[in-house]
Order: sequence, then C-alpha cells, then structure tokens
Amino acid sequence: MDVTRIFERLNEAQRRAVGAPPGALLVLAGAGSGKTRVLTHRIAWLVEAQNVLPPRILAVTFTNKASREMRGRIGKLLQASDDGMRNLWIGTFHGLCHRLLRMHFEEAGLPKNFEILDSDDQFRLVRRVLREQQLDEAYWPPKQMQWMINQHKEEARRARDLPAGEGQQQILHRVYRAYEETCQRLGMVDFAELLLRVFELFRNNQLLREQYQRRFEHVLVDEFQDTNTLQYRWLRLLCDAHKNIFAVGDDDQSIYGWRGARIENLLGFERDFPGAEVIRLEQNYRSSGNILNAANAVIGHNAGRLGKTLWTDAPAGTKVRLYAADNEFDEARFVVSGIAEWVQNGNRRDSAALLYRSNAQSRVFEEQLLSEGMPYRVYGGLRFFERAEIKDALAYLRLISNRDSDGAFERVVNHPARGIGAKTLETVRRRARDQQISMWKAAGESDGELSARAAGALQKFRQLIDEMAAAAAGMDLADTTEEMLARSGLLAHFKKDRGERGETRVENLEELVSAARNFAADDDEDAPDELSQFLANAALEAGEGQAEEWEDCVQLMSLHSAKGLEFDLVFLCGMEEGLFPHQRALAEGNQLEEERRLCYVGMTRAMKRLTLCHAAVRRLHGHERYARPSRFLSEIPDEHIEELRPSRISRIAQTNNAASHLELGRRVLHKKFGEGVVVDFEGRGEHARVRVDFAGGESKWLVCAYAELAPA
Ligand code: ATP
Ligand code: MG
Repeated sequence: MDVTRIFERLNEAQRRAVGAPPGALLVLAGAGSGKTRVLTHRIAWLVEAQNVLPPRILAVTFTNKASREMRGRIGKLLQASDDGMRNLWIGTFHGLCHRLLRMHFEEAGLPKNFEILDSDDQFRLVRRVLREQQLDEAYWPPKQMQWMINQHKEEARRARDLPAGEGQQQILHRVYRAYEETCQRLGMVDFAELLLRVFELFRNNQLLREQYQRRFEHVLVDEFQDTNTLQYRWLRLLCDAHKNIFAVGDDDQSIYGWRGARIENLLGFERDFPGAEVIRLEQNYRSSGNILNAANAVIGHNAGRLGKTLWTDAPAGTKVRLYAADNEFDEARFVVSGIAEWVQNGNRRDSAALLYRSNAQSRVFEEQLLSEGMPYRVYGGLRFFERAEIKDALAYLRLISNRDSDGAFERVVNHPARGIGAKTLETVRRRARDQQISMWKAAGESDGELSARAAGALQKFRQLIDEMAAAAAGMDLADTTEEMLARSGLLAHFKKDRGERGETRVENLEELVSAARNFAADDDEDAPDELSQFLANAALEAGEGQAEEWEDCVQLMSLHSAKGLEFDLVFLCGMEEGLFPHQRALAEGNQLEEERRLCYVGMTRAMKRLTLCHAAVRRLHGHERYARPSRFLSEIPDEHIEELRPSRISRIAQTNNAASHLELGRRVLHKKFGEGVVVDFEGRGEHARVRVDFAGGESKWLVCAYAELAPA
C-alpha cells in the first residue's frame, strides 16, 4: 500500500506528528493550523503504514457533527468502504461511553434496557427526589441540586465518597444519595453518569480494563483543551498500559471553563505522560492574512497564554469588514443582503455562517431570512419559537387568548409546580372526554370527585389565567407578555437555575418580550386582536423555515457550537460590550479572557471573508439599550479593518480617553452653540468627528480633537 499519499499536502511539522513513533504526543497549535487534519491523517497512517486494525483505534471528538465529518475524511483517505469504517471507534465522550455501557450493562450494574436522561428529564427526577425527601423546593431549588450533583459526578465523586457534613451539606449529600438510589432503581443514566459509570467499571474491573487497554492500542483526542477532570482521568486510565495517546489542542480556544473544562489537562500533559513529545504547528492554512492577523491581535491581549505564533503564506485577502448598524434589524438586513449577494455570485449557501454570542440573537436573523425566503439552519440550540421555555410562555398567552386550548392547558397547568398532580389531571382529562368539553371547562366543574386540595389548586390556576386575561385587556402585547411571565411564575422558576442554561432561558424569555414589543400587528378592521395574531405568527415560525441538514442552507450557530468548523464567509454579530464580552464576564479577568478566546474562535472560523457587526441600539432580552462597540473591535489594528460605514457610536472612548464622553445620545455643552446631543459619529482617532444636534435647532459636524465639547 502506498503510504506516501498520506503525507502529501502535509507540512514538515505535521508529517512529524502524523508519523511519530507510538507513545504520548501532544500537538499544541493555534486555530486552522491543521490539528484535526493531523489527527485524521494519523489514524490513516496507523492503519495503512503500521497495520493497526481499525477496531484497535479510539478517537474522541467534541460534537457529533465533528465525528461524522472525521469519519468521512478518514474513509476517503483510506478509500475504505462504510463497512470497513464501522469498526473504527470515533465519537464524543458521551457517545462512546454509551456504546460501552450497552455492551457491558451487566458488569456496570445496569439493566439491559437502561434509559438515558437528558437534562430536562434529570431535572424532573431531581425534583421528584426532593419531594420524596420532603424538602421544600423554595429552599432547595431542584436546578441547584441538579447542578451540584453533576458537579460531583464530573469530579468522579459519589455520594458515599462525601464526608457526612452537617446542616446544609448534610442535606445536599442526602439528596445526592437518594437521587443515585432512584436512578439505580429505575435504570436511569444521566449524561455525567455515562462517563462516570464507564470510568468506575474500568477502574474496578481489572479484567475488563485490561481487555480494553489492549484493545484500544491507540487513543486520539481532538479539542483536548476542553476536556474536564473526569474525561481526562478516563483517558489516562484507558492509556495506562501503553501510553499511546495522541492529543491535539489549543489553549487559546478553551471555551468551556464554565462547564468544568480544565485547561490544566493541557498544561499537565507532559507531567502525566513523562517523555511525551510536544509538537507545535505554526502555519495557518485556513484564513487569509488580514483575518488571521486580526485574530492574532485580539488573542494577543490575553495574559494567560502558552504563547504561539501563527503565520500564513496565503495572500492578505480582503480586510476584515466592520459594520456599524443602527439597531438589530439593520444588522440583520445588512447580513442577509450580504449573504444573498454572496449566493448570487455563485457561492453555496452553506459556505456562509452567521455567528453570535447568545442564542437569543438568532430570532431577528431568522425572521429576516424567512422573509427573504433564504433557507437556513440553526445548529446547537433550537430555533427560537421551538425552545421549551418559549413554548411554555406561549402556552400561557394562548390560554389567555383561548381558554379551551387543551394543549396549552396541559403544558402549563402545573408548570411551574402548583400542586396539581398526575392523578388530578387524569380525572380532568377523563371528564373532558366524557362530556366533550375542554379541559379548562372540565377543571372548573365540581362534582366532588376530586379532593378539596386538588379542586382548590385547579380553581386557583383558573383564577390566575382569568386575572391575567383581565389585565391584558388594558395593556399592549409586550406588557401583557411581561406581566404573564411575572405572574405565572415562569420567570422566577427559570431564574432559580444557576448555571448558564438557566440564564439562557431567562434571556430567551426576555427576548420574547422584545419580540412582542416589535411585533407589527395587522390593524385592519377585521383583523384578529394583536395577541391572536402574535400567537399565529409564532406557530407558523416554529413550524417552517428551518431547512433540512442536507440542504444547502445558511448556517446559524452560537460561537460555542462553531468550534472546529470553517466557512468561507463569516459574520460575527452583536459585537457590543455587555453582549460580547458578555455582561457576566466583565467583572472578572478570568472570564474576560475566556470571552476573548471565544472571539478568537469566532474570527478564525473565516476562510475568505470576515465581517464584524455591532449595533448602536439593540433591543435584547426585553430592554432597549445603547451599546458601546465591543472592546475586542478596538484590539484589531486599523490596517486590517475596513469600515463599511462610519461608526455611529464613538470608538474614541477606546482610542482617546480625553473624549470618552462623546457617545451617541450623550448631552454635551459647546462654548458657542450651547447644549446639544451627540447624534452621529464617524472616523477614528484624531480624525474622529461627531454630529451634534444643538438645542437652538442647528446640527453640526465637529472634529472631536478641536471642538472642546464638555459633558452637559
Ligand atoms: P481548529 O483549531 O479551528 O480546530 P485545526 O487546527 O483543527 O483548526 P484543521 O481544521 O485541521 O485545523 O485545518 C484547517 C484548514 O487547513 C482545513 O481546511 C485543512 O484542510 C487545511 N490544511 C491543514 N493543513 C494543510 C496543509 N498542510 N496543506 C493544505 N491545507 C491544509
Ligand atoms: Mg480542529
């Protein structure tokens, strides 16, 4: 077999990595330098040149999308059939562990048909355990308990390993123990458990451990910087005998610190695998010069780095374009028309990606894409109107609008929990069926069949909806939505959830208020009321629009989901302080650096064209606010930037401290013209000018450096 083919189109350092002798090897290199490429070629090389049988190889990727892609690429390299590839173990940590547990359920102490709990299922189970333990949810929020349990599992700590503790601690541990027992009894396995089970299985079962250590002669890991403690221990256990581990990663792209990923794993690699070889790749093949240099400049502002230089011999290409939008609609229009032009010029839609920091941002883009009839797909996260919390909120609105909507009734009658159990609901359901009436009506009947407590709880729920409906009569749509979120308890319910997930849900709910505020209802005489129109619109949007995965469509995703991928054309949107970097990260240096890494990840997805957008005014999470451009923008040297439109917000704040008061919307005082408001801005540095509308009625462009404008 001709193995030279495998070394074609690899540079010197890449070849060294691909053809390295067995042992521990770490490829530490920046974005787009060919880490994933090296990893796939390594697998091909092992099979072709070293005659390693495919079933003896285990490769871990970060997402299912990535593992599908990797499988495809190796298949091509090896010119192997799908069948030949089947024996190759490539997958995510979760996927691989699931496969192992299915094969060894007995040894792992699980029933054959064990069930996997997703995060929502897990939440419900935790809640159930709390009830069984007679703990009040108000004091012991299930979301927090769930978070605590996962935290322990990800550090490989069982309830029995924890010290008895006192007071609060004692109760936390009791809940964890009860949760473990319940899962075991019901044959249920949550995500963290998948890994922990296999880890323990290997640790405690020598025979099986040795069997797999022998079987997986070679272990390869992509995106190594984002492994957490348990994942890393799991890998070490698996390689303990042969130490053949091939890891590739980039400290500058570590973006899951908030979920327990430990960059220390990368730093400790040489310590944990003595004699490990470390190879650095320094040539970037993905991006044109301006893009790469702009990204390098941004990440250069981080202090805690291992330090790498990344260069390219690709042409400089077009500059990084910067668009200063008026608001989020202007931003969406600009982006979508840019993509339309790209497609008209003969490019594929799926070579274009639209990236954002927060999933809630997708809504406005989705609407614009829908109205332009441009197929798109949202990855890693549901489309806005399909998200569970949005459906919850819409169900309340639906009941306000139409009490007889059974679907809405079922969804929220006991959500958030208000003591209406499954038995009560079954009674209501039967009653509704027997009498051919809606559940709402059935819930209002009192035939003595239900306990006084159950009947009372139903009564209270009906009252709540009636009250909300009465209030809605005198309010606009947005206020109705806001009021509903508060009174129903939905907002408070999701606010209890501490992690990023809970925050996202709260943000999405707030975004629904924005959607309501911006909803342009048809005000024809015979048009239905605003609320019904809004609901109809939401139902339509939830069902349509999204293209199938195989279709050629524009790719929408959060920056987190974009890791490892590449696109010719990239729009990075919402680059504003407070949004990106995220508000939560502003206070803490550590988190700010993680945001900057995320920015680096985003920028380095672009191969040919990168456009960065920010809006002067944005309505997000229900609030309208003026926003200062992201600090990351000012970290890019001017020479790589082309401003598509005079920035409408002062960037002087970042380039010239003396003029930091000159922001859009600011009141200023001029010696001659008197008081005024800054309404426009253009240019940078010493050429910066602002337009001020003066109280006297005049509007003037003034050069900041000379104008002597004082804050009013
Ligand atoms: P990331 O850090 O974003 O995951 P990476 O280091 O894994 O990036 P790859 O995705 O493997 O980088 O490679 C980036 C691009 O460069 C890919 O399109 C790849 O095919 C190409 N590439 C890598 N090495 C070479 C090479 N020696 N010759 C030509 N193209 C290359
Ligand atoms: Mg990669």
